[in-house]
Amino acid sequence: MGCAQSQMAGADSGMKVVNVDKVKSGSKMLPRGAGSARYKLRRCNCCSFSYFALCKTCPRCNDAAPVVRKPIVGGNWKCNPSKVSELKELVANIDACDTSGCDVYVCPSTLHIGIVYKSFKNGAKVAPQNCNYKGCGAYTGEMSADQMVDMGLEWCLIGHSERRGEFGLPTPPESNSLLAMKCKYLLEKGMKVIFAIGEPLPVREKGLKAVMETLIPQLLEIKGMLDPARVVLAYEPVWSIGTGVTASPAQAQETHRAIRQWIAKEVSPSVAAEIRIQYGGSANAKNAPDLSKCPDVDGFLVGGASLKPEIAEIVAAVAKEKCWRDLGNADLFPAAVYEKSGLRKTGAVTWVKA
Ligand code: PEP
Repeated sequence: MGCAQSQMAGADSGMKVVNVDKVKSGSKMLPRGAGSARYKLRRCNCCSFSYFALCKTCPRCNDAAPVVRKPIVGGNWKCNPSKVSELKELVANIDACDTSGCDVYVCPSTLHIGIVYKSFKNGAKVAPQNCNYKGCGAYTGEMSADQMVDMGLEWCLIGHSERRGEFGLPTPPESNSLLAMKCKYLLEKGMKVIFAIGEPLPVREKGLKAVMETLIPQLLEIKGMLDPARVVLAYEPVWSIGTGVTASPAQAQETHRAIRQWIAKEVSPSVAAEIRIQYGGSANAKNAPDLSKCPDVDGFLVGGASLKPEIAEIVAAVAKEKCWRDLGNADLFPAAVYEKSGLRKTGAVTWVKA
């Protein structure tokens, strides 16, 4: 039993997700009442059987299903707001996000982290926008992972282009080596990392090959650290950040896919399949639904729109499109549903034709 495993998600995987509403109602794999748009089917790469996208293997031939990555959306408040009195409203915007189908984090300004870090009731995480690489001590103006851990923070954002020298100010840019040191240090301390990468406009204008030639050096020194459970990549084209010019879904998808292919080759296919890659750059409630349709886009890092109520719509858009649900080790439906379809249980969530 079983076919060659296809772990690579995305356009090349052959994964076909179709809306349940379009599938004829007599389908054996659809229990009554399950025909909601929230449930999607995929067609097995191997035997073409249609089954729930949330299942980990094809119930007919046991072929491994492409990995379903939980989407993740972050709000980067940067150096905003200007007044403490405005924080309440911003916290409310994040708190209004439904986190059941999407991880949410927010990056408040350094001065405000201590004020808001216990405020979120929906599970949204607080991620500082920077970290040092040494720990506590004589490091004026810095923040250490030890302090973050002590405060119960789990995530930290590093590598944003505005720290890689895109301030438009003569501040020293953070180099790939420095960011790799920070990443290593954070992971060693038990933190999770959102690692941002991106290319400037003149590079994008030369095409995907040039884009990858810029992105690969940004990834090279952290390739051994790409643990999908603890590192999220944020692809943020510099020309798109704060400009109102969003990458088209085609541009975002081709770049995310190329990043994933590079990781598959340089690290492993399973890391490539599991690691989450956010898109960042003028994402908003209007463009999020279409960008979310890109199979290799796993969410967003949002600047400007994270200061507005529309952040909740962005989270809802990607959650709706990806239909992630925590299956744990449980079957999606009662055993009778599978058995009626002539299936026999052979593993935690594996059912094969009896
Ligand atoms: C960002 O700062 O990470 C960002 C994506 O900003 P914006 O959404 O405003 O372009």
